[in-house]
Amino acid sequence: MKQFDYICIGGGSGGIASANRAAKHGKRVAIVESNLIGGTCVNVGCVPKKAMWFGANVAEAINRYSEDYGFDVTLNKFNWPVMVANRRAYIERIHASYGKVLATNDITLIKGYATFVDDHTIEVDGEQYSAPHITIATGGRPRLPDIPGAEYGIDSDGFFDLDQQPERAIVVGAGYIAVELAGVLHSLGTKTDLVIRHDAPLRHFDPIIHETLVEVIEQEGPKLHKQSGVEKVEKTADGELCVHLTSGEIVHTDCLIWAIGRVPNTDNIGIENTAVQTDQRGYITVDKYQNTQADGVYAIGDITGHVELTPVAIKAGRLLSERLFNGQDNAFLDYNLVPTVVFSHPPIGTVGLSEEAAKQQYGDDLITVYSSSFSAMYTAVTRHRQPTRMKLVCMGEDQKVVGLHGIGHGMDEILQGFAVAMKMGATKADFDSCVAIHPTSAEEFVTM
Ligand code: FAD
Ligand code: NDP
Repeated sequence: MKQFDYICIGGGSGGIASANRAAKHGKRVAIVESNLIGGTCVNVGCVPKKAMWFGANVAEAINRYSEDYGFDVTLNKFNWPVMVANRRAYIERIHASYGKVLATNDITLIKGYATFVDDHTIEVDGEQYSAPHITIATGGRPRLPDIPGAEYGIDSDGFFDLDQQPERAIVVGAGYIAVELAGVLHSLGTKTDLVIRHDAPLRHFDPIIHETLVEVIEQEGPKLHKQSGVEKVEKTADGELCVHLTSGEIVHTDCLIWAIGRVPNTDNIGIENTAVQTDQRGYITVDKYQNTQADGVYAIGDITGHVELTPVAIKAGRLLSERLFNGQDNAFLDYNLVPTVVFSHPPIGTVGLSEEAAKQQYGDDLITVYSSSFSAMYTAVTRHRQPTRMKLVCMGEDQKVVGLHGIGHGMDEILQGFAVAMKMGATKADFDSCVAIHPTSAEEFVTM
């Protein structure tokens, strides 16, 4: 049996980050990966999605805004395969650079699917490996509905496999992925329908976000089907999909995408051979130090069902290795005030509590809310004005900023610095004391 000091199961955002940090502290480390190095984020998540989002922004610039900026543009065609090829080549370069870093850090990459034999032993393709410390970083996969014809649809992984642009697409779901994929397809010229069960996507975000998102979608597209679900899907002889909605409407499409959430990859890893516990949804139960119930077995990233974001998995993984291998006994990830961006059209940025959550937590009297609404200047000089809306949620007499929310052009790049300020405990007065940068959208946060 081969021995290591540390084994990470899963070579995605969390596993790689934790393994590299452990190796930097001189440990003999192995990563087991059954698929492509880089995991969800690099291969079927953040990276290909963001590349498509940039492409969609180029399309919007040409199709919607260029004329009013004085450009006489003739667009001959959009070549989806070219964009996909360039996206894939970019990801290949990321794979290569990951390979180099793993080699530099002398990390053993075991290719295959790991299952637990016991708390400290795993098996990959008949070979056993053991370590006193093992981290589970196996992430998740898309969830599919249990309805007739569900198999005719694809999921977000399938979206990134599309070699040709669908003429028509239906996206079902109301979370990050549904909003992002529907937005990209619509902006790139696919006739897109977004089917949601309630009245707004992202309905758990602050109302300023989802109300504005619905307003923009209703004005610019994609076509929104509210209070709607899918009852069944049929496929005709010529390959067309007939999607039967609960409203009785039948929508015909070439491509149906399920984006209704994800499930954790714990069902097939021999977890029953360990003392590791999962909750009823299958996520691994951990304490604040990422410890599972099995001594020397840890879990990080999406598999814990906390905040499912790449930087969260990375930070949890690095801090875990600092604690285990660099004497930082109290290192743990603080899951408060994690900033997050939805790459919608326009983008959304949010950190901290929604107005409602803040009022619930601290009481209505302690909460003061400031908001701002204007047309993004980029769009305001054209006929296609698009709203930007921002909100600050402040708490207590000193008006500590406990929530910051925005939707509008540039919000994706605005958020990070404000998150630092909030992490440092900034108050409304601190925001106000900072001189604005003009003319930007960001300045509204310091001039409300
Ligand atoms: P993963 O990255 O999923 O890695 C898990 C790895 O484990 C996989 O490579 C898998 O093959 C491997 N594995 C599983 N089981 C085994 C086994 N038994 N043996 C060996 N290997 C195994 N987050 C952001 O912060 N920003 C974004 O813009 C963003 N966009 C996203 C877009 C999409 C479409 C999706 C699906 C996700 C997006 N995310 C985004 C979320 C982000 O991708 C995840 O939070 C992140 O990848 C989680 O990292 P992880 O290490 O926990 O798991
Ligand atoms: P989410 O959990 O964010 O959203 C899925 C949504 O789909 C649910 O909230 C629900 O909304 C709706 N839904 C659930 N079941 C059904 C159903 N049967 N029929 C129709 N709709 C349904 O999952 P995602 O898969 O979108 O994303 C997973 C996670 O990945 C995100 O939470 C995020 O952490 C991460 N991610 C991050 C991104 C980023 O940082 N930009 C981008 C993409 C993903 P409702 O109850 O309102 O119907």
